[in-house]
Amino acid sequence: MTDTSTSLIRDAWKAGGTGEEMIRCETVDKWFGAFQALRQIDLVVGRQEVVVVCGPSGSGKSTLIRCINRLEKHDAGTIVVDGIELSDDVRNIQEVRREVGMVFQQFNLFPHLTILENITLAPRQVRRLPKDETDSHAMELLERVKIPEQAHKYPAQLSGGQQQRVAIARALAMKPKVMLFDEPTSALDPEMIKEVLDAMVELAESGMTMIVVSHEMGFARAVADRIVFMADSEIVEVGTPEHFFTDPQEERTKLFLSQIL
Ligand code: ADP
Ligand code: MG
Repeated sequence: MTDTSTSLIRDAWKAGGTGEEMIRCETVDKWFGAFQALRQIDLVVGRQEVVVVCGPSGSGKSTLIRCINRLEKHDAGTIVVDGIELSDDVRNIQEVRREVGMVFQQFNLFPHLTILENITLAPRQVRRLPKDETDSHAMELLERVKIPEQAHKYPAQLSGGQQQRVAIARALAMKPKVMLFDEPTSALDPEMIKEVLDAMVELAESGMTMIVVSHEMGFARAVADRIVFMADSEIVEVGTPEHFFTDPQEERTKLFLSQIL
């Protein structure tokens, strides 16, 4: 083992944030048929930590975060979220999903429901909370993402940036302990990226534990505690933004940075 890989592994195991462990991935493998999409993934994310995952298309970024909330089932290794180890037990999966909010590249709002109804649907159906309580919480969340005036409109009446902020509010409505973002700004027109990133910065500053797949390196530099670089189904390098941008160790990281910066 080289010195570089030793320090890489140490960084992958070192939970940031409060130092208390929120997510642990240990030697996680994922296969799609004969293709291995995740190879021996080791990563610990601390409570209140913000981890940005970047890397070339097809490197396994989405697969990794989809395994963390069990949209995909990993084939080997261990994933633990807030003390709950992911297993085949349906109740276990529901328990984890309740703790983990997810925001996708495509906002996936229900077109036939108003913004308010989109946000309150899961809390009402899954948590069985009364309407007045879910409505007032939804309005607080819309204030937080700065679009309370859109509450009674339908998704198609909103811009992409506004719809993505609704998607964030909708995920927060379940009071998750962790938020996963999969390229939340890559489907947006450039002028709308900032308003979504601003909402994510606010969320990070509020102490949310976040894993964000993104190539917004300005955001990563400003908000990430650590950056994970993936390539070819593996974690190639993990480090603080300072380390990552000024002193990347691996050739694949250097090449990637030279292409996107
Ligand atoms: P990234 O998000 O880094 O672009 P993904 O995690 O989406 O990469 O995909 C990693 C690899 O796994 C890609 O080669 C992709 O084609 C493959 N893959 C992802 N999902 C599936 C699936 N459901 N079935 C088969 N192959 C898949
Ligand atoms: Mg992806």
